[in-house]
Amino acid sequence: MNAENETTRSAVGAGGGPVLRCEEARILLMGYIDGELQPAEVRRIEDHLAVCVPCRREEQGFRRLGEVTEEMLNEELPMLDIDVAWETIYRRLERSVGWLLLSAGLILLLGYTGWNMLNEFFLNPEVPLIVRLGAGGALGGGIVLLVSIGREVLTKHRRERYREVKR
Ligand SMILES: [Zn+2]
Repeated sequence: MNAENETTRSAVGAGGGPVLRCEEARILLMGYIDGELQPAEVRRIEDHLAVCVPCRREEQGFRRLGEVTEEMLNEELPMLDIDVAWETIYRRLERSVGWLLLSAGLILLLGYTGWNMLNEFFLNPEVPLIVRLGAGGALGGGIVLLVSIGREVLTKHRRERYREVKR
């Protein structure tokens, strides 16, 4: 025990109890956590916290509360960036419209071409059967490949959207 401690102790009173009373410690606690106390006050509250479990719990609770509040503030900040939010929404909308037009156009084109090919080529008795079978096979393979590539592009597109959300 150093001399200062002894004087504080005697100032509070006899009995060898806590240096500060709990009510006094609780009043000083917020200032202590925020680092706004005078060195002498810091010493007094640290002496009290060293011997008083309830006040130490209170201190830890305050510190945790401060950390949580800070984390929440840090997380909220990107949400407040309206420019980024609009850009993301606009980009997503743009892509949705793009994909919709692309799909609709492809379906129309494929439908029209398919119908014509069916009538003028595959159902045409003038074209030799072997040629129709060969063309059918090649066309079928092409469609399978297209679907496969399309699915890969779509998966990648979805993953990109996921990344945007995560950011
Ligand atoms: Zn206490």
